[in-house]
Amino acid sequence: MEKIAVIGGAGYIGSHVCKLLKQSGYSPVVFDNLSTGHRRLVRWGEFFKGDLGSISDLLRFFKKHKVRAVMHFSAFAYVGESVDNPAKYYLNNVANTINLLNAMRNAGVNRFVFSSSCAVYGEPVALPMRENMPFNPISPYGRTKKIVEEMLVDYNAAYGLKFTALRYFNAAGADPDGETGELHCPETHLIPLVLDAAAGRRPYIKVFGGNYKTPDGTCLRDYVHVADLAQAHLLALRCLERGEGGGAFNLGNGNGFSVLEVIEMAEKVTGLKIPVKMVPRRAGDPAALVASSLRIQRNLGWKPQYNSLETIIRHAWAWHRKIR
Ligand code: UDP
Repeated sequence: MEKIAVIGGAGYIGSHVCKLLKQSGYSPVVFDNLSTGHRRLVRWGEFFKGDLGSISDLLRFFKKHKVRAVMHFSAFAYVGESVDNPAKYYLNNVANTINLLNAMRNAGVNRFVFSSSCAVYGEPVALPMRENMPFNPISPYGRTKKIVEEMLVDYNAAYGLKFTALRYFNAAGADPDGETGELHCPETHLIPLVLDAAAGRRPYIKVFGGNYKTPDGTCLRDYVHVADLAQAHLLALRCLERGEGGGAFNLGNGNGFSVLEVIEMAEKVTGLKIPVKMVPRRAGDPAALVASSLRIQRNLGWKPQYNSLETIIRHAWAWHRKIR
């Protein structure tokens, strides 16, 4: 079985990708320092405890595991935190990615799937958002993703690195079999927090801003099921194995749901009342982020299976009840 390095495979999206890789006949090898990941989510392959800041960890990893490709999920991803502590973000998301790419070159591995973000675009100039929109990130987090994407283009030109950058919109939901799911600490994402409020684990959900230029005044986001994201990684890997460099792809469903619509759907799914408190806007939140994912559908044949918000929240709720 071909080994695939999954950097950050003990985290939310990485663990779903490991499960799918295993089911698809690959042998995932997780490299993770467990700073935000969870050992118990590493269930579909070997585990190597290592830190991207350590060149010797990387050398040992690539010596021990002859991998065919690398998937890189190991980044910090809180926009607000990146504004307060940009050094943390540039160090991990940029400098540590350079360490990883150099270790790959050293080991002769030249296939790379990178977790990028819609944050590279900043405030969208048009909706739905296409890949050819200009990069205009408005947070240090978004800038770290932009920098790495630009580096990948240079590494491709100079060293022949084949890469695909997947620009996630709002990853959500959980494994449909309930074997893995979202487990952030602290949790900042809307859907798990809404479910916490439904379960009475917090008194209410704060809605960040009710005066955006959207139909109900709250922000619109494109929620994409984590199992569909995992499928996109598998397609990206296969594309690189065919010798094609994939470039960059958006990953979303093309539908924007408002914060209030998410809460309403969560009330329907859980059958529970969810108290709401309107609070001021959160810094750095664009009013609406909605993807066009036509490019990945056309070029790689991506077909999201779980594209209804109800299914996304149902799977998230099943996982939430299992782990809380
Ligand atoms: N949001 C909210 N209350 C919360 C958390 C998030 O109103 O407690 C809003 C947030 O302003 C954004 C949307 O929910 O419009 C999704 O936010 P999340 O943090 O889940 O993902 P992001 O869009 O930041 O990647």
